[in-house]
Amino acid sequence: MSQPSGEFVRVCEVGPRDGLQNEPARLELADKIDFVNDLSECGFPEIEVGSFVRPDRVPQLADTLEVFNGIDRRPGITYSALVPNLRGLDRALEAGVDKIAVFTSATEGFAEANIGCSINRSLELFGEVVAGAAREGLPVRAYVSCVISCPYDGPTPVEDVRSVCERLAALGVDELDLGDTIGTATPEAVTRLYEGLGPDLEPSRTVLHLHDTNGEALACAGRALDLGVRSFDAACGGLGGCPYAPGASGNLATEALARLIEERGFTSGLDRSAIRDLGQRMRRLLGTDGGGGAEPPTSPD
Ligand code: MG
Repeated sequence: MSQPSGEFVRVCEVGPRDGLQNEPARLELADKIDFVNDLSECGFPEIEVGSFVRPDRVPQLADTLEVFNGIDRRPGITYSALVPNLRGLDRALEAGVDKIAVFTSATEGFAEANIGCSINRSLELFGEVVAGAAREGLPVRAYVSCVISCPYDGPTPVEDVRSVCERLAALGVDELDLGDTIGTATPEAVTRLYEGLGPDLEPSRTVLHLHDTNGEALACAGRALDLGVRSFDAACGGLGGCPYAPGASGNLATEALARLIEERGFTSGLDRSAIRDLGQRMRRLLGTDGGGGAEPPTSPD
């Protein structure tokens, strides 16, 4: 297979976490382990394996520790997990994660609904978690949900996104991940977002996390590439959505994003055909149509 020679665009596969957490079907532990192991053969620099939130909040991911214990880690791949608080950090350390992710929102309505506290309180909690991760030498990603609009508060003022990002950066997080949680972004909205973030939050310093509710995720990714974004999240097969955002569709499909990156002359290091096959297998296992630009299954089983 010929490799494009362009600039590298980093794709973090979030299917095992963000994909599975909102699929109604529950995968067996062995299937989750197989999923991560197969993703490890597809060229990803990073795979988000699971979440150490309370099991009653996200029962689909209650066995994240067991998944970490069961996978074959390939050298060079960062295996990460969501961590909401110090207790979650302890469990993440027990699992031997390579990186953690904390998560808050640009809007108060979603923060209250998703994490049960105000943005201010979430940042207080993350201060402890980020400091604890730093002591262990673990890098920290910070998710900011609802950067375009919120299912509870409506359109999100970009100043609110900037404010939360600046406060997270001040806490010492390594990576800011901007989530279009309910998938209402348009290319024009992506341009307004990055213009509004200002010179201290250059596009190249952020990760963009798109959902395909309106079928525009790929167009938004294309615009983000034009603006200088070089890091994206995506989920194999377009799996998942968001359990706290009514109407949220699946994540941008990794195979569609990888194709776009290649068509634009960039390189991702991803094995597109392996990802497409794996996405189809996972959709069959989960009994879901998938979304996010995923290609339809070629066989009906
Ligand atoms: Mg998502």
